[in-house]
Amino acid sequence: MSYLYDHPPKQGRCRKAVSNGSRSFSWHQCYRKVVKGEWCTIHHPSAVEARRAASRDKWEKELEARHNLPVERALRRATVAQLNAELGRRSDA
Ligand SMILES: [Zn+2]
Repeated sequence: MSYLYDHPPKQGRCRKAVSNGSRSFSWHQCYRKVVKGEWCTIHHPSAVEARRAASRDKWEKELEARHNLPVERALRRATVAQLNAELGRRSDA
């Protein structure tokens, strides 16, 4: 049986493998205590999924804002153009 760690996962501790820093290829078991099932509060699948959903939500809103911006500007420009046209029509009369 092989483990991601150098030793079997310790009981009573979150089973998530955590990298020993970006330069290292070794891993250690998460130091946090088990809270739900085999996971700590941070590494519980539902918590991980909630964080992912939250960042996805944020990213989608950001994308939406970016896409809406030129449209809003175009709409504003159209309104100004319409006003100018109307003013022009009025001054012609
Ligand atoms: Zn953990």
